[in-house]
Amino acid sequence: MTSQSFAPASTIAPMPRRDRLVPADLVAARYADVADRRLAVTLTAEDRSEEDGLNPLERITCRTHRRWLHDCVASPLHVVVVTGTRWCRSCERALTVAIDHVAGDVAVSCPSCGETPATAATRQLVRACRASLAAAHDR
Ligand SMILES: [Zn+2]
Ligand SMILES: [Zn+2]
Repeated sequence: MTSQSFAPASTIAPMPRRDRLVPADLVAARYADVADRRLAVTLTAEDRSEEDGLNPLERITCRTHRRWLHDCVASPLHVVVVTGTRWCRSCERALTVAIDHVAGDVAVSCPSCGETPATAATRQLVRACRASLAAAHDR
């Protein structure tokens, strides 16, 4: 071993001035201003997965609102009548989504009949909201 093996630090390429846990290429330019870095990274990853075939209704982030799903699922934009997502087919009304941040639970019900539709679309919505809660709180 010679002194040559101990190169002075100045000859080593400097590390990019970024958080190494969140490299810039993990966040798409359109989300660069999203304050929650974990959200920005997940939004970017899900956008890419969607191009590879991820069902948009399985997403835990929202491209439109740039938020975690549970934070904007109450928006009328998250009612999809044709798939029965957040929609009571019997009453033809939008379902209410109650988010319990403490328990990490999600309850969906119809404001008209009070029922939780026993449909794949409702189970999918609840599953995605629970996953979104868990990801946001890192559980
Ligand atoms: Zn949304
Ligand atoms: Zn109903």
